[in-house]
Amino acid sequence: MRPIIERLAAEHPDAVIALRFRNDLELLVSVLLSAQTTDVTVNRVTERLFEKYRRPADYLAVPLEELERDIRPTGTFRQKARNLRGAMTRLIEEFDGEVPLALEELVRLPGVGRKTANVVATERGATQGIVVDTHVRRLSQRLGFTRREDPAKIEGDLERLVPREDWARFPHLLIWHGRRVCIARAPRCADCVVSDLCPASRV
Ligand code: SF4
Repeated sequence: MRPIIERLAAEHPDAVIALRFRNDLELLVSVLLSAQTTDVTVNRVTERLFEKYRRPADYLAVPLEELERDIRPTGTFRQKARNLRGAMTRLIEEFDGEVPLALEELVRLPGVGRKTANVVATERGATQGIVVDTHVRRLSQRLGFTRREDPAKIEGDLERLVPREDWARFPHLLIWHGRRVCIARAPRCADCVVSDLCPASRV
């Protein structure tokens, strides 16, 4: 694990979250909007969105259709708009309008699963788990860190293997390596800095 983390960190020194946000609320909204779309699309949408919606109450002050229109390019916009409204309502009713830090509180917000909660907590310096998205899952399986399919079980396997101080950066390293080198359909093993340590290497 250690040489893999060190080599990936050297290979991807820019491996940080690609979403743009200025505060906890914007972080939460960006992550909610990022499901099944690209970070580039989310950033394009939120650039204007965050000028119009600054507080949780702002998301409830417009008709649902208007909010749907404002987030439409991110896809599955009806579901996302409903989740956003539900999350904002709960923030106001249960958390004084503030985004909570604890995972068990974050996952009580509509639309927020464990992955979203882990991203939101980790980006605020309160890491409590390891983010498992599609890249983390694929690379963890290829690199032999897990044989599981279920994200929660993969997270458990990773938490046993990854040193605690690396929990925050570890998923970013796998995500960027997955985007650039260990691509889903055609991994570029010949260009991979961990190919000698990878059981799935094709070289
Ligand atoms: S050697 Fe190939 S399969 Fe293994 S991590 Fe690198 S690119 Fe992915």
